[in-house]
Amino acid sequence: MIEIENVRKSFGSLEVLKGIDLTVDKGEVLTVIGGSGSGKSTLLTCINGLEPINGGRIVVDGIEVHAKSTNLNKLRQKIGIVFQQFNAFPHLTVLENVTLAPRKVLGMSKAQAEEIAVRQLSHVGLGDKLGVYPTRMSGGQQQRMAIARALAMSPSYMLFDEVTSALDPMLVGEVLDTLRMLASEGMTMICVTHEMKFAREVSDRVAFFHKGVMAEIAPPAELFGAPKDPELQKFLAATH
Ligand code: ATP
Ligand code: MG
Repeated sequence: MIEIENVRKSFGSLEVLKGIDLTVDKGEVLTVIGGSGSGKSTLLTCINGLEPINGGRIVVDGIEVHAKSTNLNKLRQKIGIVFQQFNAFPHLTVLENVTLAPRKVLGMSKAQAEEIAVRQLSHVGLGDKLGVYPTRMSGGQQQRMAIARALAMSPSYMLFDEVTSALDPMLVGEVLDTLRMLASEGMTMICVTHEMKFAREVSDRVAFFHKGVMAEIAPPAELFGAPKDPELQKFLAATH
């Protein structure tokens, strides 16, 4: 379970999260929507401790993320994160990209890491790309590789930050299908997305962020069907 309690986050004098309260249960799929600069990415980077916070607390499976005593490297093994940019290691093959962290961070043997990597790459439809260099793959394939790389660490949670935004429209579907598959398998996920159709179909709940505030949160049928917040109404009108 991810528990976010009154979290505040500033960059200098700019307050970008203004007291966020949110709990994500095991197995839940939460999507986060909202305008540019509303704080969506910042929330994700605070959850896995990439960014310090200025108030409140975030607790993941009972571990307080920003407590001094917390081993962040260990915590991050629980929380996979995939960004908009692919950030693959270009000089490593697909298989090497995916085995790197299990070997270096978890101390797995090459054989053990490769077994897991092959399984995860096959799972995302890249079982035939093991020896290929990432630059020789499409954006959609690279993004699926990034997802397999995160899954190879056996995370309990996955955070996705606009993973389809940098893709050609033709390639968006294959990556969304991969996320749908993970959701149907029961993975606990927070997905920041601009894909409203995807959010509507896959989410248990959708959260709308506006200027650092979670202005509305509801199941998709309710949030899209009968939005209450005036800013959400404007946002949805502009994205349709
Ligand atoms: P987008 O939809 O454009 O990705 P977002 O909702 O993800 O937007 P954030 O990236 O969380 O927005 O940014 C929230 C605010 O914090 C923005 O005003 C942004 O300029 C600012 N910000 C984000 N990261 C930093 C940083 N490292 N240093 C200073 N300001 C930052
Ligand atoms: Mg963002």
